[in-house]
Amino acid sequence: QHTLFAALRAGFPADLDGIAIETVDGPGAPLHYTWRDLDHASARIANLLDSLDLPPASRVAVQVEKSVEALMLYLGVLRAGHVFLPLNTAYQAGEIEYFLGNAEPAVVVCSPQNFTWVSRLAFQCGSSHVYTLGDNRSGTLLDRASFHLDSHTPAQPAEDDLTAILYTSGTTGRSKGAMLTQRNLLSNAQTLKAYWGWQAGDVLIHALPIFHVHGLFVAIHGALLNGSKMIWLNKFDPKAVLAKLPEATVFMGVPTLYVRLLGEAGLNKEACRHMRLFISGSAPLLIETFQLWQQRTGHTILERYGMSETVMLTSNPYRAEDGERRGGTVGFPLPGVGLRVLDDAGQPMPAGEIGGIQVKGPNVFKGYWRMPEKTAEEFTADGWFKTGDVGKVDAAGYVNIVGRSKDLVISGGYNVYPAEIEGYLNDLPGVAESAVIGVPHPDFGEAVVAVVVARPGEAPDAAALIAAMKGQIAAFKVPKKVFVVTELPRNTMGKVQKNLLREQHKGLFV
Ligand code: ATP
Ligand code: MG
Repeated sequence: QHTLFAALRAGFPADLDGIAIETVDGPGAPLHYTWRDLDHASARIANLLDSLDLPPASRVAVQVEKSVEALMLYLGVLRAGHVFLPLNTAYQAGEIEYFLGNAEPAVVVCSPQNFTWVSRLAFQCGSSHVYTLGDNRSGTLLDRASFHLDSHTPAQPAEDDLTAILYTSGTTGRSKGAMLTQRNLLSNAQTLKAYWGWQAGDVLIHALPIFHVHGLFVAIHGALLNGSKMIWLNKFDPKAVLAKLPEATVFMGVPTLYVRLLGEAGLNKEACRHMRLFISGSAPLLIETFQLWQQRTGHTILERYGMSETVMLTSNPYRAEDGERRGGTVGFPLPGVGLRVLDDAGQPMPAGEIGGIQVKGPNVFKGYWRMPEKTAEEFTADGWFKTGDVGKVDAAGYVNIVGRSKDLVISGGYNVYPAEIEGYLNDLPGVAESAVIGVPHPDFGEAVVAVVVARPGEAPDAAALIAAMKGQIAAFKVPKKVFVVTELPRNTMGKVQKNLLREQHKGLFV
């Protein structure tokens, strides 16, 4: 049972007629899917794929709206032993052309309304099969699959075989395809099952997109491996989540989802009385959100850290005997994950000192798809992966992320860590959140610039913020300029797009 599919399938409860998924939104909701439905549909799709006689390691590229059928397609691809390649639904023709050209998938599945232009691009890139899948069970994929048997003997890929290509979020530059193997995905899923204490009776609210590591792997593998029911939202809606909390035990979200839930007056201890665990990740959770959540719900959010290339790396503890969940930290390296912090010269940093984070473990990917030079650059000679994140490990072993190496500001020869400055700014009156960037400066090389979001109804004064900072931190760290805006640019995973801010302000001093 060493394949991911076999492990997920073995997690299904003995009674296949039980409810595996209940939909909350989307056409026809609420719909109830049984475990047998997942088994049969994934078998039909796997049989359809088998009938195409694809070469080994063929990529199946998928850009469809979130639906339970899209999850069935994922399971069908795993079952047939092909490579699943999900694409962000926000991507338009220019981006899809790049991804299809880069990945050369044998099969492409797209939304019915995009068929005309996606099929043209797909055939240009050598794909021989293009299917459609709508969020209302329409489209040619399910039509064709319905002619196939609902039983299927799963493929037996080897541990090291390519299983999924996940394109990174493109926060720091062009997306790269991270090549993940059976072992990467299965070992991480099993580790998280144990570490987060998945148990009988757990019910997961699934409200994340499924083209990304968080919603696709962390959430879905967790629920399936544990045979847990999912309450399924195609689109996040705070009111709908709130209404379902009393029936659930586990929720996973990016920080913006927590912020939006806090905006609901009905979010209180009573609404969360059956909840066991709230998990946050994909972007830093503000300490303020962490504390407010504790006050309102009585629950301490568990923050964890990971990336497309490695699935999950660190987690705050679930069990009290393993330690407290510390806001502002991403917890401890997961069992089996090696994590070290080094300076630019490759020397290990003592506890509490900031450096580049490197990792090792069965969860670390094989490399970037068709980028051997980039892959070689990002691994050390002794096999550690350079995450591109900058952080420190404190004396108690908690990992703190202070930013990305690409976001580090070097002003007048001094390193400035954006997260540190953002922390001070966020504590000033009238400031809800902030993003600190470096922009070209003739004297300093780079100058520190802050973009600040005002609290609702407040209008902090830029000069006053700068003056307040001067009393608190070294002059070279104080932003030379502060802009007050209504919101920060974020991508679909809630990550602040600092590259856009840098581009916008690059001409400030030159
Ligand atoms: P790209 O690599 O294309 O620039 P990306 O790194 O944003 O995009 P992902 O793989 O989706 O793409 O995101 C991983 C990154 O998200 C991590 O490297 C880290 O910077 C950030 N991250 C994830 N979880 C956390 C967290 N809990 N706290 C802070 N940062 C986090
Ligand atoms: Mg990255």
